[in-house]
Amino acid sequence: MQPTEHSQLETLKQQLIVINDISSAGSLLYWDMTTQMPPGGQAARGRQLAVLGQIAHDRFVDPAIGRLLDELQPYAETLPYDHNDAALWRVTRRNYDREVKVPSAFVAEFFQFFSVIYDVWTRARPANDFNAVRDLLKKNLDYSRQYAEFFGPFDHIADPLIDQGDYGMKAASVRAIFAELRAQLVPIVAAITAQPPADDSMVRRHYPEADQLAFGLDIIKDYGYDFSRGRQDLTAHPYMTRINSGDVRITTRVDEHYFNDALFSTLHEAGHAMYEQGIDATFDGLPLATGTSAGVHESQSRTWENIIGRSREFWTHYYPALQARFPSQLSDVSADSFHRAVNKVTPSLIRVDADEVTYNLHVMIRFDIELALLEGAMEIDDLPRVWNERYTSDLGVTPPDDKDGCLQDVHWFGGIIGGAFQGYTLGNLMSAQFYDSALKAHPEIPAEIGQGKFDTLHGWLKENIYQHGSKFTAPELVERVTGTGVQVAPYIAYLRRKYGELYDLS
Ligand code: ZN
Repeated sequence: MQPTEHSQLETLKQQLIVINDISSAGSLLYWDMTTQMPPGGQAARGRQLAVLGQIAHDRFVDPAIGRLLDELQPYAETLPYDHNDAALWRVTRRNYDREVKVPSAFVAEFFQFFSVIYDVWTRARPANDFNAVRDLLKKNLDYSRQYAEFFGPFDHIADPLIDQGDYGMKAASVRAIFAELRAQLVPIVAAITAQPPADDSMVRRHYPEADQLAFGLDIIKDYGYDFSRGRQDLTAHPYMTRINSGDVRITTRVDEHYFNDALFSTLHEAGHAMYEQGIDATFDGLPLATGTSAGVHESQSRTWENIIGRSREFWTHYYPALQARFPSQLSDVSADSFHRAVNKVTPSLIRVDADEVTYNLHVMIRFDIELALLEGAMEIDDLPRVWNERYTSDLGVTPPDDKDGCLQDVHWFGGIIGGAFQGYTLGNLMSAQFYDSALKAHPEIPAEIGQGKFDTLHGWLKENIYQHGSKFTAPELVERVTGTGVQVAPYIAYLRRKYGELYDLS
């Protein structure tokens, strides 16, 4: 490395860290807005988020950054592909080339718009009032199309939006994976729903909030979520947010009459957070310091929520502690019955509460609707009707209202329409592939889970996935870790193995 290259690289890093700090300040304002802020702060907060978003964007697309990237290209090209400087150059170049296509005024307008539509939606959903968001959704669809057009030409208008969350994927490739998955899922759902449903009445007894939270915290401490670099707060729609490597926060919500809600959202968000906490600390403030794709991120949250948190070994270990914490609710319930209850498969209305078997059918409905809206094959006015028709045909349940229908997900009311949902299902597929690789390396993992020990699994995930941050793209990472691309078969095998023990799938 030449001395000039060294100073150019240092200048680039310093600039990127400043931009990251501006964005992180925005993340903290957003966290405050969704956990602490009184409702009166809404208008000003929306403006503040828009200002920070625009400043971060403008500083990043500054031609000076483009020049530094050009000047550093010869150096980056001499390095091995997996060298940290090569990866930093590659990822920054990719982000720069994308963001530079988006006009600054659009960014500011868009950020401001999101806080307006989000705010209206938080009231429209409980009031079951689709009309309140109808025109805003139309506006969002216009924005989303306009945004996609900045990145043309493309085969499908959703391609740039999908690529942004799940780099390397397109509408056509996702459709192909989803078609294969659907063909294999539908018979499993049919076989299970033909049998008597599991009794889950015990999870609907009264569980006081403080004890629910304490139980969840005990588990994620065992998992390895580091509370010296994290915290948990209450919110309406749980999420994880990274402020920096030393501050990765999670949020949850509690329903005192539905035990699953808080616990599994806690395990889920802790999975996202452990990924972020496990990224190489020397990447902090740089574009490498984030999970590499929506799909890979979701593979980690779903691993800790479902593959681990809904496993028999997990409940063999934790059920006595749960029973001791909630003796009046659970003294008459066996560990087996409880394990069955938290794995109850039943077609339902709400995606975030759906079981592992039907969950992906919820995602496919949203993905198809996003594509149809973006293509212009469907209008916002058709949304409630099409949504309900798809639930009736795909899941056999008809939403009684829009609150539990097309108004249920935050995505279209807080971000662009498109590119948001496929990551959930890609994540489920990858979670089974990654876990198979972990078991191949460490067959002792299930027995350790049965003892409440997670170090081996957590260490393997850190080593193979977490530490790399965005150094490798999702397709590269899946290939490195599993030896293949994203596949449907390992996830189906996982479902058949697990639900074959709970239901007759012969
Ligand atoms: Zn998630």
